[in-house]
Amino acid sequence: MRITEIHVYQRDLPVLGKPYKMSRSSVTSLDTTIVEVVTEKGIKGYGETCPVGPVYQPAHALGARAALAEMGPHLLGEDALQIEKVHRAMEGALNGSRYAKAAVDIALWDIAGKAYGARVCDLLGGATRERVPSYWSVTVAGPDEAARVAVEKQREGFTRLQVKVGGRPVEEDIATIRKVAEVIRPGVRLAVDGNRGWTTRDALAVSRLCAEHMFVMEQPCDSYEEIAAIRPMLRHPVYLDESTENLGVVLRAIGDGIADGFGLKVTRLGGLSTMRTVRDICRARNLPHTCDDAWGGDIIAAACLHIGATVEPRLCEGVWVAAPYIEGHYDAENGVSIRDGWLDVPKGPGLGVVPSPKALGKPVMSFG
Ligand SMILES: [Mg+2]
Repeated sequence: MRITEIHVYQRDLPVLGKPYKMSRSSVTSLDTTIVEVVTEKGIKGYGETCPVGPVYQPAHALGARAALAEMGPHLLGEDALQIEKVHRAMEGALNGSRYAKAAVDIALWDIAGKAYGARVCDLLGGATRERVPSYWSVTVAGPDEAARVAVEKQREGFTRLQVKVGGRPVEEDIATIRKVAEVIRPGVRLAVDGNRGWTTRDALAVSRLCAEHMFVMEQPCDSYEEIAAIRPMLRHPVYLDESTENLGVVLRAIGDGIADGFGLKVTRLGGLSTMRTVRDICRARNLPHTCDDAWGGDIIAAACLHIGATVEPRLCEGVWVAAPYIEGHYDAENGVSIRDGWLDVPKGPGLGVVPSPKALGKPVMSFG
């Protein structure tokens, strides 16, 4: 089924309420890029990529669109159902920029689902359940505020909480972690996410001074090397997030014994195709992981949800979606929303989410 047209759309997604604060950045509006791949049979697939600002990792919205401009003309005429071959065409047209290639990859899985009359999760191996847990990120806040949100979100039904830390004196982080850990109910899991913000000194201090509290440390320090240097001295499990820039790093982290789990981003790794591989590798080594993306609307949320549904429940750390921070949906009927801390897998076919023409607006770029 030949690709005949590719259209690229841009949307601004303002953050509802307060800015979304992490250790190294704070965002008030996100710039998302939506890719529409059209085939000769008229079947259209959608993908999305939305870096959470230009500082979070080496990815930015303008870069995504520049990469799509570079690759777009080379993908016309390719068979949309032969996803690996389209990946080879993308590799032949552009080095790197996996986060842009991911949007095309997601659109191809959407097309495959529509062509075969199946959901993306079915094509990825099959859903283990129809409701998948999400988790709540408590942005960088003082102890009382963070604990208040933690209580509220557990009451709503969230079974996992993540607390953002870093970017301030480490004593404040320790006070916040302790206060939140005290209100965590039995059965609810806690992750403390440094988003690369701590020095090794800070990370060691937190782990020692909070040793009696159960939580995982997510990407405490900036680099793989820093985390590797202190890993044997930490008293808490470590999950890598920002460091997992590609499949090779995931393999290295497992081989080196650095990671007890991962915070995985679909677009950073290059799309659902690579996520499927990482999911299987993690299963082979009993490593829990999330299925997230940095930010974005209904399309990326649906993509994360479909792969998340295929992860064995014991290894699934949840699917984070930006929906609670964004007003409205691309698809008013089937848009992805959190209900009581959980997400319903879309019915499909494909991603099961179809953006309305109004939501897309006019393309900023077209090929074919
Ligand atoms: Mg993280």
